[in-house]
Amino acid sequence: MASDSAHTAPHAPLDPPARLLLGPGPSSVHPRILSAMAAPLVGHLDPYYMQVMAETQAMLRPIFATANALTLTVPGTGTAAMEAAIANVLEPRDNILVCAKGFFGQRMADVARRHMISVQVLERPWGQVFTADEIAAALARTPVKVVAIVHAETSTGVLQPLEDIARVVHDSGALLLVDAVTSLGGLPVDVDRIGIDVCYSCSQKCLGSPPGLGPISLSPRAVDSLRRRQTPVSPFYLDLGLLAGYWGPEHAYHHTAPISSAFAFHEALRLVHEEGLAERYSRHVRVAQLLCDGLTAMGLELFVSPEVRLPTLTTVRVPPGVDEPMLRRRLLEEYNIEIGAGFGELKGKIWRIGLMGHSCRTENVLLLLAALEHLLSDRPA
Ligand SMILES: *Cc1c(COP(=O)(O)O)cnc(C)c1O
Repeated sequence: MASDSAHTAPHAPLDPPARLLLGPGPSSVHPRILSAMAAPLVGHLDPYYMQVMAETQAMLRPIFATANALTLTVPGTGTAAMEAAIANVLEPRDNILVCAKGFFGQRMADVARRHMISVQVLERPWGQVFTADEIAAALARTPVKVVAIVHAETSTGVLQPLEDIARVVHDSGALLLVDAVTSLGGLPVDVDRIGIDVCYSCSQKCLGSPPGLGPISLSPRAVDSLRRRQTPVSPFYLDLGLLAGYWGPEHAYHHTAPISSAFAFHEALRLVHEEGLAERYSRHVRVAQLLCDGLTAMGLELFVSPEVRLPTLTTVRVPPGVDEPMLRRRLLEEYNIEIGAGFGELKGKIWRIGLMGHSCRTENVLLLLAALEHLLSDRPA
């Protein structure tokens, strides 16, 4: 080993390209957030860090629009928060109804099966949304403990309305679990008003921080179901009872928190509140509309119908005759712009353009439209 490294030249220092991130996440990070990550480290039980945790919770609650005491971040990305949500409120052999209309709904079902939860999947074609009636009908056939649904389906660009669904879920006695990974911080999530019992997201999409943290919030009813568990939560690392013990007044050691990521996230939340939630949400709608208008004016076809179109992630059909991967490669190499490809059944058929957090700005849309226009007109006849 030693002789190997003696013969290896040291690697060059990191010098990542200055990409404009307009894909499905991560989104571009505000310079103030990058500076916060470079702040000196403190310990994970330092009183200073405890203060940062308390402020993070206080800033997160209004973004979830909740008074939920159990509101914190789990270490890990959106998928960790998804697994925490599912594995905490359900025990092996409990049943869940997963409403899947895209890739991330299917992932929730996959995660639940791995925890020996009994899973029923209600499916909708990719690009569509669920109605409350079809969920009510499924619950009338088989009552379940939890109904899970994705608010903003990043694989398709669809925004799922939740209000009527929350009503039928609660009427059946079930808890409502919502994936808000591509909505939280970019559009209203309204946990308390809608009645979402378990809601989770990630740091790197509309909240605009680097990846690494998963905000999550549980209603008092969901917390009761944690208390009534007969079996311990299987992923020790994501046990919300233990995590709440660390975030609560006793600050009981559970894991070494990712301090620098938490500093970044704190700054990201400060930026959200400086801007104001109402202004932030209307910015996301305004800038997305500019993109949609521009794409349509270029003769491109949007994938999702306007009533259920997500502002934070726009999907557009790849025009016939275009080399899809080549266009994305040239966008990255010649313009330093990242956008997302379609995947699953939409692979090669759509592009996914994210306008989230700090990426969501007029000048970025104009740059992308100009670049696309140039690259598309360059295509072979
Ligand atoms: C990105 C995403 C996830 C997964 O989050 P990671 O941070 O990639 O782990 C889950 N659900 C939805 C809807 C997403 O868009």
